[in-house]
Amino acid sequence: MEKVVHQSSKEFAHLENKECIKPVKIEKTETGTGARIKIQDDGSYIQLRETDLACSGCITSAESVLITQQSHEEVIKTDQSGSAKLLVVSLSIQPVLSLAERYDLTVDGALQKLSGYFKKLGADLVLDMNIADDLSLLENQREFIERYRAAQEGEGKQLPMLASSCPGWVCYAEKTHGAAVLPYISSTKSPQQVMGSLVKYYLAEQRGISSEQVYHVTLMPCYDKKLEASREDFFNSQLGARDVDCVITAIELEQLLKQEGVDLSLVDSAPVDYPWGPAGDKELFGHRGSGSGGYADHIFTFAARELFGDSVDQLQYKSLRNPDFREVSLERDGKPVLKFAIANGFRNIQNLVQKLKRGKCPYDYVEVMACPSGCLNGGAQVRPLDGVHSRELTTRLEAAYSSLPQRAPEDNPTLERLYSSWLAGPHSDKSRAMLHTTYHAVEKMNTAITIKW
Ligand code: SF4
Repeated sequence: MEKVVHQSSKEFAHLENKECIKPVKIEKTETGTGARIKIQDDGSYIQLRETDLACSGCITSAESVLITQQSHEEVIKTDQSGSAKLLVVSLSIQPVLSLAERYDLTVDGALQKLSGYFKKLGADLVLDMNIADDLSLLENQREFIERYRAAQEGEGKQLPMLASSCPGWVCYAEKTHGAAVLPYISSTKSPQQVMGSLVKYYLAEQRGISSEQVYHVTLMPCYDKKLEASREDFFNSQLGARDVDCVITAIELEQLLKQEGVDLSLVDSAPVDYPWGPAGDKELFGHRGSGSGGYADHIFTFAARELFGDSVDQLQYKSLRNPDFREVSLERDGKPVLKFAIANGFRNIQNLVQKLKRGKCPYDYVEVMACPSGCLNGGAQVRPLDGVHSRELTTRLEAAYSSLPQRAPEDNPTLERLYSSWLAGPHSDKSRAMLHTTYHAVEKMNTAITIKW
């Protein structure tokens, strides 16, 4: 069994070790955060639940160290050391809804309480992630149109386009299916990593500081987001800057508040910041469709309009084997011209991948999410209080999500400004660098020689 040696993140950029880490002990009991823990023989640990795909496989040494380095203690240490000139906290909507439900707050109220709490901890800016959700959706829409047209012209491995925003699914595909699946995964970065680009490059530029002087924390619904933030693809070795330095989950924050004896509903509120443009554009919007970001809905509606001139108001999904696998199609002369699906949970993902590998996948796009019911039911959301069934909690979160005012990403006025003033247009090299990424098949190293015990 290899030893994990703690090194600076700069050194990890050169680390290409993909060896298997085998746990020596698996605690059977649930921890206070509802997660199980794998303990490595160096004493470091990884928390996991069965729904967290990435962690149920193998992770690399570098990943395990980077994950254990992501905790609220790191945030406090960074603030106290004064090493960051700008400490930014980005709040994803799913954990905000989870904490709003836990502390009986409105969504807006929860955002402002969280802003007050993090500012007291030392944050300079607390942001919602609406802008990154919109940018990621818009790029996904454009990428789908390009892939669809390329497929029409006979280019291979374009469709189905598979969602890329769930790192649990992406890591599973990289480590288990490699080249057979990776070309189909959208190259568009997830909202967390788009937010990383916005904070570490756009904001740093605006403030006249360099990326490594910014410390960026995100609040997320699952542990897999820690793994995503730790990817080498999101580390700039020239600048020594990682797009997201630390990921905290909803359940970790709840536990921290409990330890500190803090009731979030009693914390002083502070406004959420909006450094992207006029304050008038600040209102929080949700997205129609699934609570994972509404990818299938938005891409379908956009494609129906762009490719077929059809205006689709409401999508009617048909559930297949279970409610976590559903499909929708657009027909012309009785034949489907667009066929989309949503596949949540490991079982449905396995079925989808088998179909894809056999060349029998009938879809143009699939919103793939590792957690059953998607991100609102993420592995590190706050657990239901006594007497509340987890399905009931998810239903409440879904209702809260769909009650947010909705806006299509192409109607967000800030995006146009960002494309023209920062990204040099939608299809520029800079857009590609800031908003897209690549995936890598991880070779299986399971021979006696390659496993170090
Ligand atoms: S479905 Fe959402 S919450 Fe679950 S692992 Fe994927 S990104 Fe995380």
